[in-house]
Amino acid sequence: MYIHRDTKSNAIGLPLGKIVCVGRNYADHIEELNNAVPDEPLLFIKPATALCSFAEPISIVAGQGECHNELEIAILIKSPLTKASESDIFPAIWGYGLGLDLTLRDVQNRLKEMGLPWERAKSFDYSCPMSDFVAREQIIDGENLAFSLSINGELRQQGNTRLMLNNVTKLLVEISQSFTLLPGDIVMTGTPKGVGPLLIGDKVEAKMEHYLRICSTVV
Ligand code: ZN
Repeated sequence: MYIHRDTKSNAIGLPLGKIVCVGRNYADHIEELNNAVPDEPLLFIKPATALCSFAEPISIVAGQGECHNELEIAILIKSPLTKASESDIFPAIWGYGLGLDLTLRDVQNRLKEMGLPWERAKSFDYSCPMSDFVAREQIIDGENLAFSLSINGELRQQGNTRLMLNNVTKLLVEISQSFTLLPGDIVMTGTPKGVGPLLIGDKVEAKMEHYLRICSTVV
């Protein structure tokens, strides 16, 4: 069963909570899906039942069309944030990890066309494989974190938090205006370009430069 862990695989001791995700936070990804640049961050939520360990085999849903990778920097919250201001944010962060926002793209496109919510495409069980978390104190600059995803040895996604339309601090301020963030909640900060279908047997390698490397397999 999934629990939040640090990079030594020790339990962090925070409960599992909601995962607040942001869509369209990198210009290159907005372009690749022909979406409009939003005036304010597009937010959606995955429940705690979406969490599973990124290092364990990633199971994709059968019979529902393409299941896409979206590799994102994940922020683990350690103290409550309600209608926060910028100076509240840093002390409320436990640490930084890497999460996959698995997306049933065909289902999402159908829901988008009908103007319906995305939960069936985004929030299903195990739709959020999550890495161990690097403690905030160990990160030199959370607003300048490089990360990448390779599938079968081929680079598919490359991003850096400094390229976000809304940086980590602004994003958490904005989220906390609508949703109180509680200890153990996670914020997924959006995906850069390079989303595409995952196939059974794919070897997945995710990296946060200097801090994390995760290898997994799609089953
Ligand atoms: Zn995403």
